[in-house]
Amino acid sequence: MDLFEYQGKQFFASFGIGVSPGEVVTEVEDAVAAGERLGYPVVVKAQVQVGGRGKAGGIKLAGSADEVRAHALAILGMDIKGHVVERLWIEKASDIAAEYYASFTLDRAAKQHLGLLSARGGVDIEGVAAEEPGAIARIHIDPVEGLTDERCRAWVTEAGLDPAATEGTVDLLVKLYRAYTEGDADLVEVNPLILTPDGRVHALDAKVTLDDNAAYRHEWAEYEATQRRDDREQAAHARGLQYVGLDGDVGIIANGAGLAMSTLDVVNQVGGDPANFLDIGGGANADVMASALEVINGDPKVRSIFINIFGGITRGDEVANGIVQALGRVAIASPIVIRLDGTNAEQGREILRSQESDRFLSRPTMVEAARTAVELAAAAGGR
Ligand code: GDP
Ligand code: MN
Repeated sequence: MDLFEYQGKQFFASFGIGVSPGEVVTEVEDAVAAGERLGYPVVVKAQVQVGGRGKAGGIKLAGSADEVRAHALAILGMDIKGHVVERLWIEKASDIAAEYYASFTLDRAAKQHLGLLSARGGVDIEGVAAEEPGAIARIHIDPVEGLTDERCRAWVTEAGLDPAATEGTVDLLVKLYRAYTEGDADLVEVNPLILTPDGRVHALDAKVTLDDNAAYRHEWAEYEATQRRDDREQAAHARGLQYVGLDGDVGIIANGAGLAMSTLDVVNQVGGDPANFLDIGGGANADVMASALEVINGDPKVRSIFINIFGGITRGDEVANGIVQALGRVAIASPIVIRLDGTNAEQGREILRSQESDRFLSRPTMVEAARTAVELAAAAGGR
């Protein structure tokens, strides 16, 4: 889950990292009131989950109520790289002596955490990495050892920051590493990390991606509440399904993420266009199957449905019974093609045979089933 900047700063603050005071608003007059409370100058900042807001005109300094009003009016509703601005973060402006870059993320290949620190902050870091890779100090951190103050100090020295920033940066980075690990983030990025003329170091921007699998051990309800999903994804999420909406017309249900991915590939191979990725996991019982069918049935683009199940621990006859029960509960708008294989596949197919019609077909292999599903979609006026 990606956080908005203001949430990222809230997250940072809960680990003792210095951020500027501010208020989040959705209306122009609330922005003005926030400016009055914070004291000028303030920065009016578009809250969208995309970088480069500054360049796009989504970050503006305001020295008076009238300026806040004008900027808020211009930025609310602005489209920044396809993201429409619905919220503003009004922040007390900072004086900047230097802008740096810092981040922690997982280096999967190295099986360690990776920290990046650069004296060239405030700008697009990919550009720095491409033009002047030596300007980024990298550090690998063993998750068991963690980041000690000593190592952090050596890292900061290597990055060549202003010596006035050393103490504050070491302190901030140790806290940022704690936020990243104890806070269960996949990414924390501060760009820019600033040094103020009076020698303080704090986070002027915040990019945070949290690990959704760790949600159960945190209070993330407020972050959850502002997540935007398309309607289908919302419906699937509410039913606890692993679902990704796509643009095609063949709805897909498979058990296991690997099989679901292969199913997308096979549908593509035979000239079709998948409408979604949906992994119903191991237990393909009637409830899960009914939920999956409901979600796909609610997608107006779907013209046919391909159910691809490989019986493993869940036996084919159980799956078949689940499907039959689910069909009794949900009125399906599109024809269904099923491929059932694996443990007790024959018993399963026998159960399905009683249901077969021109709206419910069984095919022995994945390719044949995909082909039939694609033909049915085309016949039903798909693309
Ligand atoms: P981004 O463009 O989406 O990365 O948005 P940032 O929050 O990083 O802001 C972009 C740039 O605006 C920063 O690099 C700063 O140069 C400038 N900026 C943001 N906040 C302040 C502030 O409080 N004071 C000053 N002087 N500049 C700011
Ligand atoms: Mn930034």
